[in-house]
Amino acid sequence: MASPGTTWRDVALATKGFMPADEGDALYDAALAAGATLPGLPFIEIGSYCGRSTIWLGAAAAARDTVVFAVDHHRGSEENQAGWFHHDTDVVDPATGRMDTLPFFRRAVFEAGVEPFVVGVVGHSPVVARYWTSSAAFVFIDGGHGEEPARLDYEGWARHVAVGGTLAIHDVFPDPADGGRPPYEQIFLPALRSGRFKLASATGSLRILHRVD
Ligand code: SAH
Ligand code: MG
Repeated sequence: MASPGTTWRDVALATKGFMPADEGDALYDAALAAGATLPGLPFIEIGSYCGRSTIWLGAAAAARDTVVFAVDHHRGSEENQAGWFHHDTDVVDPATGRMDTLPFFRRAVFEAGVEPFVVGVVGHSPVVARYWTSSAAFVFIDGGHGEEPARLDYEGWARHVAVGGTLAIHDVFPDPADGGRPPYEQIFLPALRSGRFKLASATGSLRILHRVD
């Protein structure tokens, strides 16, 4: 159990994952703003891992009386698998030998006190996207960073951002020396080129885009 006085943000910072504090805070501010602009519409996260970024979004959802749908198959991205740089043996289920971040996600969301505002959706992102019909105030894409997963996340989820809403993209590295290209080439650039999104702000590798059309 979290000790008394521990805030949701403390829990986020203590949760395994890949969201730096300043980018998490920027994500939170952007979600709060989107929730004020489009009251009643939900937030969507693609790629929750152990729930670190989800907590910032869940806290923003709580403040705006909405929810965040947190989509992840919890089996890890290619770059999280054994032998890759971002692999963590603690998140391998010994019974199956496969990654399973769902128990970590559930515990983190519970400890942070945001469970009522977080709806976990366990599945393959393109499959969930195919059946998804609600528009969202805020969509945060931080799923698989390979070329095809990134392209499918753009195609599947950018269209669900309501006009006036926000598309947030993580791990956008315009300079290949800084990191992988797919979030930049398959999500960020297509969003801008579509004419439907305008860049609002950047914090680290986080990009905040507003849907204008
Ligand atoms: N936002 C997290 C990090 C996400 S890591 C944080 O703040 O720490 C990327 C996540 O995307 C992994 O948990 C992986 O399981 C998930 N993922 C990758 N490809 C996916 C897909 N096609 N469908 C669903 N989830 C996917
Ligand atoms: Mg990321």
